[in-house]
Amino acid sequence: MENVVYVFGAGASLDYGAPLTKNILPFALKLKKALENHIRMKGLPKPDEIPPFGSSYLNRLGNKELTILEHVFCFISDFFHGGKLHEDNLPTLEEVFSILYLLQNENTEYNNFNIDETYRNLKASMYFVLRYCTQINDDVEFSPSLEKFSPNPFEIFFAKRLKPLDTVITTNYDTFAEDALRSLYKNKIDFGSEVSSYQIIPGGFKKDVNHENKANITLLKLHGSLNWLLCPKCGELSDFPFQNMAVVADTQHYQIYDRKYLSCPKDGSPRESLVVVPSLIRQYANQHLQNIWQVAERKIIRATDLYFIGYSMPEADIHVKYLFKKSLWKNKKFKRKQLKIKVIDPCVSTAKNYQRLFGRDNVKHIQCGFRYFIEEDKDRTTGNE
Ligand SMILES: [Zn+2]
Repeated sequence: MENVVYVFGAGASLDYGAPLTKNILPFALKLKKALENHIRMKGLPKPDEIPPFGSSYLNRLGNKELTILEHVFCFISDFFHGGKLHEDNLPTLEEVFSILYLLQNENTEYNNFNIDETYRNLKASMYFVLRYCTQINDDVEFSPSLEKFSPNPFEIFFAKRLKPLDTVITTNYDTFAEDALRSLYKNKIDFGSEVSSYQIIPGGFKKDVNHENKANITLLKLHGSLNWLLCPKCGELSDFPFQNMAVVADTQHYQIYDRKYLSCPKDGSPRESLVVVPSLIRQYANQHLQNIWQVAERKIIRATDLYFIGYSMPEADIHVKYLFKKSLWKNKKFKRKQLKIKVIDPCVSTAKNYQRLFGRDNVKHIQCGFRYFIEEDKDRTTGNE
């Protein structure tokens, strides 16, 4: 029986418009400038403020969002650059999140910055950028320069390749893989932990009861999701169907100043998004994340085939490295050298990351992007064993 595990990283979503982590902060800076200009002039972004944050997106943002972005770059300027922001040499998102976490942990104040607030604002700024870059069929006039394809490339890929016992693991926050699976399998997706679904109706929420029937297709989102909301009181995790993602992404912004809008449908507690932010110190203590990671471990142990698509195995993802190291060590087929890790990525350096961790002979590099891999079915035409 085959149990194929597909692991997706930012490189797979890139073609569909999602930004790489390293671009999130520079994009946030562009967004801040475009928004300043928009508010001041009620005008369009200047050409050098590309990616073009469309006027309709900017219209949804206002002074509150600008304050949040300004706070973040004021902190970066002050803490990292001694008061004058070096726009072409920003710290990485991981560096800023990690430092803020350490400051929070030691209860250390820095100048007049409220560190909790800075952390929240940085998270919100990340949402602003992701929200903009991943919106579909919106801002047609100013769609991002990155080409988006239709239909969803994940849908083409899953329709072609996926079988009922297969597992999809993603390290991305976007909902492209989920959206594709919903389109193919309706709501019968196993998320590795109980995820409730609610529809937003006038005046409140309505629970989606059909969600209980689970299929064998498993989607494991190791770093949480843009459309996941967690109630800290009752622990319920709920998602929203992709078509409502825009609403949810906006509520995640609004939670900062209008927590009532995000209250738990069960007990009214203010909910928070469940996302493991890019950081060198990552928090996976939440029970839902623990469940998901445990299911991932079991699936990797039983995997008969393993594909990494657009996932560079970055330095900061030590937990992901550990997950695969400890699980593959128990995988019988891998131990018998009958399971080659297939790495689909255009970069040779990515393949080297895998070879360094798993051994040269255990890795097969298929040197192409996700889109080309789908079109060519490359590992089949060239033979893969
Ligand atoms: Zn609750």
